[in-house]
Amino acid sequence: MEKRISGTTGLFTLLGSPVGHSGSPAMYNFSFQQQGLDYAYLAFDVKKDQMPEAIDALRLFKVRGSNVTMPCKSVAATLADELSPAAKIVGAINVIVNDNGKLTGHITDGIGFVRNLKENGVEVAGKKLVILGAGGAATAVQVQCALDGAKAITIFNQDDAFYANAEKTQQKLKAVKPDVEVKVYPLADQARLTAEIKKADILVNATIVGMKPLDHQSLVDPSELRPDLVVADTVYNPLKTKLIEDAEALGCTVAPGKGMLLWQGDAAYTLFTGKAMPTAEYQAYEA
Ligand code: NAD
Repeated sequence: MEKRISGTTGLFTLLGSPVGHSGSPAMYNFSFQQQGLDYAYLAFDVKKDQMPEAIDALRLFKVRGSNVTMPCKSVAATLADELSPAAKIVGAINVIVNDNGKLTGHITDGIGFVRNLKENGVEVAGKKLVILGAGGAATAVQVQCALDGAKAITIFNQDDAFYANAEKTQQKLKAVKPDVEVKVYPLADQARLTAEIKKADILVNATIVGMKPLDHQSLVDPSELRPDLVVADTVYNPLKTKLIEDAEALGCTVAPGKGMLLWQGDAAYTLFTGKAMPTAEYQAYEA
């Protein structure tokens, strides 16, 4: 480390709370070292109300770029100087690029999701998706899939505060991508869910169901799945959710959340450095 960090080393950060468990510092520092880049990446525990000061600090310390995690993604979007097209629609960012004091916000979660499908041999263009969820991950996935040419997106969410997000996303997408058919239904309408899954090419779980401590739970009965349905999850802990295990047992093509996590990081790395992340080397190192 004493040989790697010098007076010229450029800083990248992670802002959010908590950040102590994050895998990002290890992943980015490994990648900088692999590619001989004079950069370092550190995590800072920053609460929502501290974000204006943190954003000013990015400018003051000429931090090259930053990731933003929960619960600061939405407030960060209001503090950036400019937003990518997807970030504008989503209203949240997970990446900030500092271009000589001008901060541009991006959201790479949806990019990572679409790349993860692609890495599993599935294109989103022209496809009908059923997406369970209307929180941060779900909204990013819905917006990116629409921008990348999905034919139809049907959103199901339980009757909670997130439901209104789905309706907002539907309205926003109507304005920017009127050719994509976006429908929103309550998750409690199980007959509708069954009918929509029957018509779908890709089923996505973007809720917290399946994540610890809700592991061993799935919002979809295995009898609703069929081998030609692609099944994706945003949940990455556990690595295989019950939904992914049920789908795999039936022979479906699956795209678990860990791949989305890797590829959203890769997309951020490219925005930070202009290079592809050495993902294969990092996966081998992590294993
Ligand atoms: P969020 O809190 O913003 O949204 C939670 C969603 O879960 C809402 O739609 C809510 O209605 C739904 N929900 C909660 N309890 C439910 C229940 N009992 N039954 C049905 N629906 C329920 O969360 P988020 O940030 O969108 O994260 C969702 C999941 O995606 C988490 O597991 C998170 O770790 C994961 N995630 C993964 C990546 C990745 O790169 N793979 C990125 C972001 C988030």
